[in-house]
Amino acid sequence: MMELKFYNTLERAVVPFHAIRDAQVGMYTCGPTVYNYAHIGNFRAYIFEDLLHRVLNYAGYDVTQVMNLTDVDDKTIRDSRASGKPLSVFTKTYIDAFFQDLKTLNITPAKVYPAATKHIPEMIQMIQTLLDKNYAYQASDRSIYFAINKFPSYGKLARIDRENQRDGVRISTDEYAKESVGDFALWKAWDEKDGDVRWDSPWGPGRPGWHIECSAMSMKYLGKTFDLHTGGIDNMFPHHEDEIAQSECANGCRSVNYWLHCAHLMVDGEKMSKSLGNFYTLRDLLSKGWSGRELRMVLTGCHYRKQLNFTFDALAQAREHLRRFDDFFRRLHEACAPADAPTLEPLLLEAKTAFDREISDDLNIAGGLAAVFDLTRDLNKLLEAGSLSKSDAAKALALFAEFDQVLGYLDVGKSAAAEIPLEIQALADARFAAKKVKNYAEADRCREELKAHGYAVEDTPAFCRVKKL
Ligand code: AMP
Ligand code: ZN
Repeated sequence: MMELKFYNTLERAVVPFHAIRDAQVGMYTCGPTVYNYAHIGNFRAYIFEDLLHRVLNYAGYDVTQVMNLTDVDDKTIRDSRASGKPLSVFTKTYIDAFFQDLKTLNITPAKVYPAATKHIPEMIQMIQTLLDKNYAYQASDRSIYFAINKFPSYGKLARIDRENQRDGVRISTDEYAKESVGDFALWKAWDEKDGDVRWDSPWGPGRPGWHIECSAMSMKYLGKTFDLHTGGIDNMFPHHEDEIAQSECANGCRSVNYWLHCAHLMVDGEKMSKSLGNFYTLRDLLSKGWSGRELRMVLTGCHYRKQLNFTFDALAQAREHLRRFDDFFRRLHEACAPADAPTLEPLLLEAKTAFDREISDDLNIAGGLAAVFDLTRDLNKLLEAGSLSKSDAAKALALFAEFDQVLGYLDVGKSAAAEIPLEIQALADARFAAKKVKNYAEADRCREELKAHGYAVEDTPAFCRVKKL
């Protein structure tokens, strides 16, 4: 098992990662609120989480990732009512679009995508436990609130000053019912703004608050204490702080060992967000002719804790890098020097060692990519000198395929051969094999057969290629 280190927001330090159960990791990811298409800022968070998932897999862990779908909250209710559609019909459009976008960006699927509306009983149960343990109370507006002054460690994740917490947060009218301004809703009593969105509970009809959703569902799928919890940095407070309060008070134990947060995707110095209106969806970019693969390269290219400024220049640069990678893999597939290059093995070993070292150090993607680019440069030199054999090329391609388990955008299968029908490639391979053992009669026969099918073979000591005539 490869040793990994992560920046744990709880400790504000890069620390060694130790899973609770040897090779098995539980990871909870705050998912989308499905009232609109996710924008590429959201996808920066999901791609960071995918990178984390992939690095854990690469290091030898089996990952149980859970990503919730927030399909009931103020915004989903507001916009579904405005659209005149029932809540579940309204949110389904965006849930379907989200899964399509995950595929386009080659994001590793989570094991479970629990929807909030399918877990109301679990949330009611947790709220009841918090009431029973006296961490919560029902206010005059009939809503249930968490009393943060009952939990002395409140603020330990965001390191907020409890006296001044939530300074500047607007107090909406119904919040006056709370005992303290910092208290947050676990259960929101129904009012007419909610229309027909309501569930029965021991405290009257209503719906859950946003934070309790994640506490109840993470406990259901990952247990009371699990390894990793992730999100964008804006999730840290109050959302994650409130999750800690609910989970730790209900369960009486630590909830999460490692909290990881990614920095924002910015546009012109501001956070990309729906509320500022400065956002692009993946669909916007696809319609402008960009690909998911190009966006994936841009969004993974910057360390997750650094702000990333979105530009079209960066997309154009990614396009050029990917074109060069494709071209390089095509040439590797054609390599066929008669003898193996003696310098190959040490080069591959050096690249793998550097890649592993960097990527295991808090997902240092820049360092990992440098190792990939260095190897590409060195192999290009060997290709130009005509010194790579078919078996050399196969070893190199296998290593790039390993790197791609983490990167997710290399196309190592890219070869001119991939565009050639299988039976034609088989014939060309048979010819190559015959030639190698000096069975020239058989090699010539294969060449003639290829010709009859409309294909030619082109050999130099450095490469052999099948081409359509
Ligand atoms: P939301 O649907 O607003 O709850 O956001 C879903 C996820 O996207 C959360 O993890 C947010 O922290 C994250 N997020 C939202 N905007 C950005 C952004 N501009 N850059 C990076 N992550 C973001
Ligand atoms: Zn959450």
